[in-house]
Amino acid sequence: MIIQPPRHITPLDNILPDEPLLMMGAGPVPIPERVAAANSIVINHLGDTMAKIIEQVKAMSRYVFQTQSDHILGVAGPGSAAMEMAIANMVVPGSKVLSICNGFFSSRLADMAERVEAEVIRLEVNEKEAACPEIVEAYIKKHQPKVLTIVQGETSNTVCNKHLKTIAGIARQYDCLVIVDAVCTLSTMPLEMENWNIDAIITGGQKGLSSIPGVSLIAFSDRAWDHIEARKGRLRHWCLDAKLADQFWYKKAYHYTAPVSGILAMHEALRLICQETLPVRFKRHLRSSTALQAGLETMGLSLYIKPEARLNSVVGINLPKDLASKTLLTYMSAHYRVEISGSFGANIVRIGQMGEQSRSHHIFRTLHALGASMKALGVKVDIPAGVSALESTLEIFSFEPTVSAACLQAQEAVTSYS
Ligand SMILES: *Cc1c(COP(=O)(O)O)cnc(C)c1O
Repeated sequence: MIIQPPRHITPLDNILPDEPLLMMGAGPVPIPERVAAANSIVINHLGDTMAKIIEQVKAMSRYVFQTQSDHILGVAGPGSAAMEMAIANMVVPGSKVLSICNGFFSSRLADMAERVEAEVIRLEVNEKEAACPEIVEAYIKKHQPKVLTIVQGETSNTVCNKHLKTIAGIARQYDCLVIVDAVCTLSTMPLEMENWNIDAIITGGQKGLSSIPGVSLIAFSDRAWDHIEARKGRLRHWCLDAKLADQFWYKKAYHYTAPVSGILAMHEALRLICQETLPVRFKRHLRSSTALQAGLETMGLSLYIKPEARLNSVVGINLPKDLASKTLLTYMSAHYRVEISGSFGANIVRIGQMGEQSRSHHIFRTLHALGASMKALGVKVDIPAGVSALESTLEIFSFEPTVSAACLQAQEAVTSYS
């Protein structure tokens, strides 16, 4: 039998909306023009041009991760592939792993560790709370894990592990390697790999970095790399074997055909971060998210997480009991062309504040779209009050001195990338 091509295939132009939707959910996020343009180019994956680009991607990553480590690798795959790469290379089957579980993504790390047959101890953190360093220390003392896994920002329920630095410091005292999932947070808030004693940081393209989905970065510390090199036996994963990936990323040799376009896009995303500098970028995110939160609360809505444990990179908003998130999201998308996210359980919706999402024109439009959609669906909200609070909060931040000494220093360090 000869199989015929399918009939009735609609060209993309007739499927995609005339005007692109504003992507204000929990990722993927809008990408800058330069990133989109880079993503349309294909070059030789082993040529001199690629070699130069790889060198720059590594140099810029060292700044973004805040590490001098020479073990930064790109991954052809989603953030989850980078998570799996950290686990597969650092967790020895049969060894103990302490997984701090705050929600969906941090539990995924525990699941991955179980799949490589580690003995996984799950520390289930109370709902809506950040992990507590004292409790983590008690678990480390009791179980003596070789590896600890933790998420910086739990995108699923908008909890931020605010004591990450302290927790990583404690783990170091007990000689336990620390893996941090920073997919939604990297470059949106402080995270200092070296100063905070972190041994592996994972990130994806489509969230904090404002690049495309499907190409990710992972950074290993020297300590983690020594451990990887000292491991006996062959890794069960071939694509995710860090020592094989090192061949491409440090020795210009073939591992698999690198996702060249996605790496070019990542190059541009990182270059824009270096140009903006981390202190300025952190401040932009803080200002935008704080203003959005003020706008939402003043409009009459409540936020899912209390300030002590609240993530700024993704904001969770409680919905009235009788309003289903699906109804609201569909209405907002159809009438205002703004997309936000539902959730994995709680009756909340989530608005992203990652990379390009943290621009004032986007948050005004999103707040209005959300408010107007809720009003149309019978929820009592005060839109003008919300918009006014958003405006005045943005204003407060712009009166602060914008250029600090640290910021100037960082700017000097990256001028060669601009
Ligand atoms: C989105 C996300 C992931 C998974 O990334 P994918 O690219 O979807 O695999 C992991 N961790 C966190 C914190 C995330 O927000």
